[in-house]
Amino acid sequence: MNETQFVNQLKEINIEINEEQLNQFERYFELLVEWNEKINLTSITEREEVYLKHFYDCILSAKYFDYLTIQSLCDIGGGAGFPSIPLKIIFPHLQITVVDSLNKRINFLNTVAMELELEKVRFIHGRAEDIAHTELRASFDAVTARAVARLSVLSELCIPFVKKGGYFITLKGDKGQDELKDSQHAFKVLGIEVDSVYDDTLPVIEDHRMIGLLKKKYETPKKYPRKAGTPNKKPL
Ligand code: SAM
Repeated sequence: MNETQFVNQLKEINIEINEEQLNQFERYFELLVEWNEKINLTSITEREEVYLKHFYDCILSAKYFDYLTIQSLCDIGGGAGFPSIPLKIIFPHLQITVVDSLNKRINFLNTVAMELELEKVRFIHGRAEDIAHTELRASFDAVTARAVARLSVLSELCIPFVKKGGYFITLKGDKGQDELKDSQHAFKVLGIEVDSVYDDTLPVIEDHRMIGLLKKKYETPKKYPRKAGTPNKKPL
């Protein structure tokens, strides 16, 4: 997807992007490729692919969830900043928190924030299982994650961070529906209910995407998430 296609596809989902934002995306792309030579950030480095499979893919949920209605967004396992940095560029009002267990990626994100002059962003080095038991617990209007774990595991990592009344925004591909079925018990235990689920495709390559909006109805019991590694070994 070249820059013109990127702009046009965003228009189709009612997002108007200005010159400054386009420059931010371009600088982000340059930094990603530059840093990727030193530390492993992504296997996708070709420009048009980055714009489609990273940038556009990360923004697609805005077709179904109105980010203008929230203030704070947490991205669990954000890695090189996906999906939160593209969302921050498009919705500059958002207060963004990224949690990731790899410090090198946190260093990269600090550089991105400085170079793109992003405000109201913070990057936290640590495992979600530990950070969810700090003051960040139940403190976000919305929490999201991409390509971190299957949904039953991811739910335990993400849902404790969501405020009551807030949303867990799931971004999944082909296996989304199966993962949803497998996660019903986890949703119940963690205090969340499925609000709506949307199927979509990425332009150009037609890859399937499933976006789920889950609404937090009850507080998550204090024992979740269990200690680091347990959610993955013994999913709820
Ligand atoms: N979300 C990014 C994306 O879509 O490109 C990165 C995906 S990468 C495959 C998974 C990321 O999750 C890695 O950066 C890893 O360090 C982080 N991660 C995995 N388990 C985690 C945990 N329990 N707590 C915090 N970060 C975690």
